[in-house]
Parts: sequence; structure tokens; C-alpha cells
Amino acid sequence: MASEDLLSGISNVSDETEFYTPMPPGYRRGQTKYVVVFGTVMSGLGKGIFASSLAKVLQDRGLSVAPIKLEGYLNRDSGTLNPYRHGEVFVLDDGMETDMDLGTYERMLNQDLTHLNFATSGQIFARVLEKERRGQYLGRDVQMIPHVTGEVKLRLRELALASGADVVFVEIGGTVGDVENAYYIEAVRELAFEEGESSCCFVALTYIVEPHALGEQKSKPAQLNMQRLMAGGIQPHIIACRATNPVSRKVREKLAMYSNVPLERVFSMHDLESVYLIPEALRGAGIDTMVLDYLQLGSKADPEAQERARTAWMDYTKHFRSAGVPINIGVTGKYTSLRDSYASIIQALEHAGTHLGAKVRIEWIDSTDLTEAEVPERLRHIHGVIVPGGFGVRGVEGKIACVKVVRETGIPYLGLCYGFQIAVIEYARNVLGLEGASTTEVDHDTPYPVIDILPEQKKIEGLGGNMRLGGQDVAVLPGSMLARLYNGAERIRLRFRHRYEVDPAYIERLEAAGLVFSGRAVKHPIMQVLELPTETHPFFMGTQAHAELTSRPLRPDPMFVGFVRAAMMRSGAPDPFVDKPAAEPEPGHLVR
Ligand code: GLN
Repeated sequence: MASEDLLSGISNVSDETEFYTPMPPGYRRGQTKYVVVFGTVMSGLGKGIFASSLAKVLQDRGLSVAPIKLEGYLNRDSGTLNPYRHGEVFVLDDGMETDMDLGTYERMLNQDLTHLNFATSGQIFARVLEKERRGQYLGRDVQMIPHVTGEVKLRLRELALASGADVVFVEIGGTVGDVENAYYIEAVRELAFEEGESSCCFVALTYIVEPHALGEQKSKPAQLNMQRLMAGGIQPHIIACRATNPVSRKVREKLAMYSNVPLERVFSMHDLESVYLIPEALRGAGIDTMVLDYLQLGSKADPEAQERARTAWMDYTKHFRSAGVPINIGVTGKYTSLRDSYASIIQALEHAGTHLGAKVRIEWIDSTDLTEAEVPERLRHIHGVIVPGGFGVRGVEGKIACVKVVRETGIPYLGLCYGFQIAVIEYARNVLGLEGASTTEVDHDTPYPVIDILPEQKKIEGLGGNMRLGGQDVAVLPGSMLARLYNGAERIRLRFRHRYEVDPAYIERLEAAGLVFSGRAVKHPIMQVLELPTETHPFFMGTQAHAELTSRPLRPDPMFVGFVRAAMMRSGAPDPFVDKPAAEPEPGHLVR
């Protein structure tokens, strides 16, 4: 092990030493424990779900956990990624645009994350290049090892220090063997060496194939990938085997033998009915205990905390498994073919449905060529409609047509971001009679730009001409449906990702025609939530925010709860708030 002074700071970078380990001031080696999850064989195994479930079961033991996802791509964030290719862009409260896996962590851990929890190669290299320009490498040629790997270790240690967590939980993107992720693997190898014995627990997720023609499980791809990991200097401590069916002892034995991992630490992680059952499966297999034992954290575990956390979670999964009122929710959108693009909406519907006892079936409505005449037939079996976030022109007219029918026929409606803007446009056109009203995103020359970019406002918000991103406070109109859904709260916090907004010049006219803006930005006239009075429509709500991003299994988003409840009633089911026959739930009735 290197001596303390050699590892103690950036000033050591010189010709004299090969050690380059920049440490954040105040960091003490060996104090924080690390768990690192690697993917092998192939992507698409649910590594994010596995890793966040493992982080959760550690958190359930009473430990504080700070997750970080290390992405191989060179983008600085996920903001410019196409959801077709990469799934939805998840926005954190501090405005960081991340990979959808961060959403999985927030939901599983019921914890708000920040930019510190998300690193990309783009961020790592940008910092290295900045330091190079500032001359901080003291004349050295800047190399992948030790400089770039040093920067990765610095990121992990900065998170350790800032979070004060017991465990920093690292998920390395991609799979072992990818060129773009290889330096992350090297960095965590160095980290384990520098932090010392029992500091880094390495967990490899692998895949056991079961070719149809053979009818038996084969471990060879998994073996070869374990060998590849070991060739990189990583000796896994635990191996989790993804598979369709439970992995046989024989296969696990083979894998154990080829990878020096004791058989009892080679687990089957076969398919389950719901991802929310994975934490209990991990506990059942004893993986949490093995991680704690390896990291010598057993004394920090709190059995009572675990019992409480477990009961709350089991309560949720029990509801999840029971039968519920079937409802059909129509979701319009141009990415209808790829569910990952709407991952958080699917989750938020599931949270609200589970909470209220509904089984939500999602029907995707491609609005690209949808005409107004076709809408009633298209919505015949639908109990509620969501128009989700989106960008650009495609499908917009079809969405406006949908919202018109939904508004006129009392079908519950929830508009999310673009869906909020579409509702304003529809109202302006068909209620106010402003023919051709639109958003300037779609029609530059519209006579009534009810939705527009307002650069002055953006400047006040300190965000230049760009996207308004991240968490913002919302002032709630007292007595509104929004206020009731949030138990009478006067201020709520929602997450945003938009460029356009309601032009304040139209607010008065829209309000005079019956539209209620029940949520507004605190300092500026930015409209954040709209609704129709319950006397005119059972549930018509839109929000400029992405309410889906902050819904959690144990804390469903109130707007989704209100929407699903209305959809259940639309389907003919009784009000799920059985003991409260009033039109709206009473304060205190919703879990928040
Ligand atoms: N395209 C709209 C805007 O930029 C809505 C954005 C969204 O739905 N995320 O304001």
C-alpha cells in the first residue's frame, strides 16, 4: 500500500511519483465504504433496477447510501439524448438532466439526488482538460492512467464527502469489455487498492443463457466475462445471475469455480413478476448481509429500521399484487413505440393505481395522423387521457383534437408539460374562439401565440434563453382542486423541463373564460398548473411540470392520484375514497 504522503493530494503530481490521486480536502481514506456493480455479458439485464434494489436493501438496514451512476458516453448530461435510443431524460431537483436510471434510484431509495450522483465521461474529460489548461498537471503528459482514472476516483470521493454516506453505491454503465467504460473499471480497481481491505465490495451482474434448442442453462458466456473482469484486476465478491428461470446449482458451481467466488455468493436473480419484488428477493438470498459482512458494516445496521422499512415496502407490494379495478388510460405521444421514453409516467400511474386499488392498463395513442372525427371512437374504452411531455410539431394537432373531446365529454385528463400547453391552446381556440391559437414552437406566425418563449422572464429566472430546468416552488391557489389534492398545502415543489410557457398577456382572458390557474411560480407570472372547476368537469388538470418525475411508490404524486381516482369513477367503479363520499378527498386523506 502506498504511503500516506504519496496519496495525499494533487501537489504530488510530478516527475517524482507515479501516484496521482487527487483527494478532496478533508477526505479520509477507508472511512467510506463502496459497493460497485458491474454488468457483464450484455446490456438490458435491468442492471439499474438490480443496483438500486441492492442500494435500497442496504438503506433499509439503517445505512445512509449515496448512489452514483458512471456513464460511458461523452455527452456532458442526458439532455440532448434521443429518448428513442436512450429512454426518458430524468431531471433532478438541481436541474441536472440524467439517464433514466437516476429515476429508478430516486424511486427505490425515496431520496432526492443531485448532479453529484451522476457522472459521464464527458464531465470527467472536461474536468481533466480544464486542469490541463490551468497547468495543474505540472508538465506531465496527461494520461488515461493516472489522470483520468484519478478524476473518476475524485468524483467518487467528492460524493462520499458531500453526502457523508456510509456507503457510496457505484453503478458502472455498459458491460465489461466496452472500450468506453474500461477506464471506470480501472478507476475502481485503483480505488479498492487505495481505500484498503474491506472497503470496496464488487458485485457482478451476469446472464445465464438458456437456448431454446438445448433446453438447459449454459454458463460459458458468464464465465468468459468473469475472466475478463478478473483480467482487469477486479475479483468479484458476489455474482448475481440474471436468467429467465431459477439458475441451477450446477451452473452456479461452475461459475463459482471459474471465478473464485464461493458458491453461496453466486445468486440466482431470475425474472420476477414486478421489479418491486427484487428488494425482498435480494434480502431472501442474503445478499445484503453478505455485503455488510464484507464491508464490516454489520455493527451499523439497525434491525428496527429494517423492520419498519420492510413493512412499508411489503405493504406496497402486497397491494401491487392484489387484483384491482381495471382502468384504461390513453397516453398520446410520438414515442409511443418505446416505453422507456415514458418510464416515469408508467411508474407514476402504477404508484397511484396501487395506492387506490386500480389495475392500470395503458393504451398508447399515436396522435400523428389522428383527426378530430376519429377521436371519439379512439377513446371509447378509455377512462382517462394523459398528454405527456414532448417537443416539436409532430402529433400536436391530434393531441389538441383529443383534448377537445376529453374536455367536452368529461373524460378525466392529465396534461404533463406539453400536455399543459396543449390544454391552453385547445381552450384558447375552442372556448375563447381564438382561431389559430398555438405555440410558437409549432407555428411561428400564429395570430394568438398563447404559448411562447418569453426571454425577459427567462432572464429574471437566471436561466438565459435555455430550458427552464429542475425543481421550482409552486404557489397553490387556496380552495382549488390542486390545493385539496395536496392536503391544503400553500407551496409545493415540482420539476420542470421546458422552454415555452403561457404568455401572461392571455392569462386574464383564459381565466375569464373559466380556466383556473391553480399553480403559479412564486416570483414570476409563470403558470404551472391549470384546472377546470369540478362543477364543469370531473377532473381536468394540466401542469407545466413533470409531475411523474417526483412520484414514488411510497409517496404517489397527488395529481396522478386525483387523475386515477377520477378514471376509476369514470369506469363505473365506486369512489376509492369510500369513507369520503365528497367530490374531492379531504385534507389529510392522501399520503404525502
Ligand atoms: N416543448 C415544450 C417546451 O419546450 C414542452 C416541453 C416538455 O414537454 N418537456 O416548453
